[in-house]
Amino acid sequence: MEIRKMAFFSALPAVLGLCCGWTGHAQTPAAHKTENVIVVMIDGMRWQEVFGGADAELLKTPGPEALDAPKERAAHAQQLYWRASPAERRQALMPFLWSTVAAEGQIFGNRALGSDSHVTNGLNFSYPGYSETLTGIADPRVHSNDNLPNPNATVFEWLNARPAFAGKVAAFGAWDVFNGIFNRERCGFPVNAGYEPFTAIPATPELKLLNELKAQTVRIWPDEAFDPLPFHTAVEYLKASKPRLLFIGLGETDDWAHSGSYPEYLNAAHLGDSYLRQIWELVQSMPEYRGKTTLIVLPDHGRGEGADWTSHGEKIPKSKETWMAFLGPDTAALGERKQVGPVTESQIAATIAALLGEDYHAAVPKSGAPILEVLRK
Ligand SMILES: [Zn+2]
Repeated sequence: MEIRKMAFFSALPAVLGLCCGWTGHAQTPAAHKTENVIVVMIDGMRWQEVFGGADAELLKTPGPEALDAPKERAAHAQQLYWRASPAERRQALMPFLWSTVAAEGQIFGNRALGSDSHVTNGLNFSYPGYSETLTGIADPRVHSNDNLPNPNATVFEWLNARPAFAGKVAAFGAWDVFNGIFNRERCGFPVNAGYEPFTAIPATPELKLLNELKAQTVRIWPDEAFDPLPFHTAVEYLKASKPRLLFIGLGETDDWAHSGSYPEYLNAAHLGDSYLRQIWELVQSMPEYRGKTTLIVLPDHGRGEGADWTSHGEKIPKSKETWMAFLGPDTAALGERKQVGPVTESQIAATIAALLGEDYHAAVPKSGAPILEVLRK
């Protein structure tokens, strides 16, 4: 604990030296409280819905005929998520984000208010987005969604190699390509993705049931499980093993969007928000985490607008636009950020490390610098 604090403070002068906006207590920095970080990524979730809620035009579009009762689905989504104003609509869609995080944390990416968040990889699709976010580097060698071992180490792997974090890192995801993104063969910590049963710890009744559901539920997407499976598996792991750094990758938002089903995309976003609340309330009930855990939430890329909302990629330049949210004891309660400098996904790796008192950016200079805006209290 003391060693971690020392490491954080020794990193502070370099960090603060870059920060022209720092006007606080340079001689006596506020006590650093974060000991644990939970990162939740919501695949391809657009900033447009995060800040404005459900889109009026898209709510009118019938979903794919392959889904039963598309008109009824659209009507139900209208009832659940349509409200008179954008503020009410976003509250209806993501109530935890717009109550707790907006009141106690920070949310970047509302371009209407002068806040820009984006990926820098130029490709605007999943593997490059996750890799940029988790390694801090937009590496041109990472240019496909193939399930190949990441040539770069993630900040998760980098921290797991340090004594204070060894055995205290884990990653769970709906998409089986997280095995490649985290480089499971090399990284040295548990990575559980897709439909694979989780057997790295002794089975609890809940894990046993989750593993059975992974084997038995219908597989709409061969490479991606429904979000409840990785989420609840991660929760069981958190309760049993109490990791200091935990990743949860949710994928349904992207899959439903690609299939053109706006109601299911909204439902997936709403479920993801409920998972943020569940995990936040869970950690606040545990002495290992209460008051010393930071939650980071973001997507891996954006999507197009209008008819292009279903897609993303190099040919849809606006799909580089993202958003990001932070909630924890070292992040000032500045809420929805306005008129603030741009932030990029490549800064997340160093920000995770800085929150934990480690200087990843110095060790990996190609990585983005930490986001100082969320490190001041
Ligand atoms: Zn994606």
